Formats: sequence, C-alpha cells, structure tokens
Amino acid sequence: MPGFKGYLSDIGGPSANMYGMEPINQSVCLKCRKPSCIDPVICKNLNVSHKRVLNLYRKVREMPGIKKAFIGSGVRYDLFLNDRRKEDQSLRDYPGELIRFHVSGRLKVAPEHTREHVLKMIRKPGFEKFRELKRIFDQVNTENHLKQELIPYFMSSLPGCTLEEMAELSAEIKPLNLHTEQVQDLTPTPLTLASTMFYTGLDPYTLKPVYVATKPEDKLLQRSFFFASNPEEKQKITGALRKIGRDDLIPKIFGSHTLKHVKGKSAGHHKR
Ligand code: SF4
Repeated sequence: MPGFKGYLSDIGGPSANMYGMEPINQSVCLKCRKPSCIDPVICKNLNVSHKRVLNLYRKVREMPGIKKAFIGSGVRYDLFLNDRRKEDQSLRDYPGELIRFHVSGRLKVAPEHTREHVLKMIRKPGFEKFRELKRIFDQVNTENHLKQELIPYFMSSLPGCTLEEMAELSAEIKPLNLHTEQVQDLTPTPLTLASTMFYTGLDPYTLKPVYVATKPEDKLLQRSFFFASNPEEKQKITGALRKIGRDDLIPKIFGSHTLKHVKGKSAGHHKR
C-alpha cells in the first residue's frame, strides 16, 4: 500500500481482548436473563480464552511489512486476571505479549474507581485486579528493559460515590504514582446503568436508593480531587474534608507536610 510504513495504530476494538470470545453453548444464552456475562462472576458458559486473540497478534507480527501493531483500544483485564489462568495458558501469556509487543508507550485501562461499593454499582472488577495488573506490568517492563506506562482512567460522581468515597480514591491512588490525566466526571449518556441511577436515584435491579452527585457544585467538588495539586483545588478539598470530619485523609492525599500545616486545627479527628 503506497505510503504505509508498517505501523498499525490499533488492531483492537472495544474491548480489545474480547476478540473471539463467545458462549460455549449458544442455546443456554437464548434462555438466559442475567444482566451481565462477566459480573459479579464470569459466567461458566462464556469462553474467555485468549487463544484466538493471541493467534491474531502472532499472525499480524509475522506479516511481511508489519513493523509494529499496537492496541489502542481499552483492555478488560479481569478477563485474563481470573481463576481460569490455572488451566488456560493463553490467559497467562496475554499480558506479557500485550505489553512486550503491542503497547505503543502507554497502555490505557479503566479501573474507573477504587472503592468496592462504587465498582459494584457499575459492574466493574475490584481495584485489587488493577493492582495485580500493575504488578505484572511493572515486572514485564523491568524484565524486558521497557519504559511502557500504564494509564488508568478514573471517574468522579459515579453512582454510590460520595465525597468521602472520592477522597478515599484520591488517597488510595496517591502512593501508586500513577499518571492520572485520563479522568472524567460522570456525564449521563443514554442506555447506561449509571445514567438510570443518576436520573432516578435508584438501583434499577433492587430499587434501593443510591446516592449520586447530581448538583453541579457536588460534581465539581468530586472532580477537583483529580486536580488536587492545584492550590485552589487543594484549599477546596481540605475545607470539604474538615467539614465532614475526614481530616485524616488530608495528608494521605497531599503528603504528610500537609498534616503539620493543619495540626492545631482539627487534624487527626476521624469520623466514619
Ligand atoms: S451470562 Fe452466560 S448464559 Fe447468560 S448470556 Fe452470558 S454467557 Fe450466555
């Protein structure tokens, strides 16, 4: 092809590693009424083997004229970081091959939040899966002398996310030294579970009330945690945390020097 230099920017699609996944028995699915095939656990009838996607990557790598083929789309890491790894070699191989051969410098993934309660609301895996991915990512980087970066995508104002949950998120990701430029405040979009909860204030499956920040000032305050290093946001955040009695989170978000700064006011007071 004229002008083609041998680089493919994205051989994935959303979600990149779901290529070739299908039910083991389609007829079972026809009668199924579960709202999700992968949450709260991966359905036994869903084949999550990564054999087909790995074969595709390997074939692409062997094609004459291809120098690099990248995955630019998101990757659903809970589909390979699960119990089936014990018996399926492809689940064990996938992260290493992905990181070594198909990341163009940055791998984007979407943990979206760190708090179990919030993640459950949006049917995302627990944050420990992201920590596990990070461990593998760092190890593959070190062993192969690579400098790839893991870029997580987080959201504020998700259903179930109070100001306190947002502060906990901020405190939890601080020691991980992550590049958190991929952030967003929830914008309700049609046909999503989060939007249903945003507009009704109810979990549609249980009809129990769910807290969702809907007032612009509450949403802005939650979003400000992503920009906590900005002095203006810092002031806003510390004020809001003191107000709800969570001064203990201030040094966790800003560093211990901040604790000295707030001592003598109400630092150390902890109310849950
Ligand atoms: S949950 Fe299982 S049985 Fe139901 S549609 Fe998904 S794969 Fe099929």
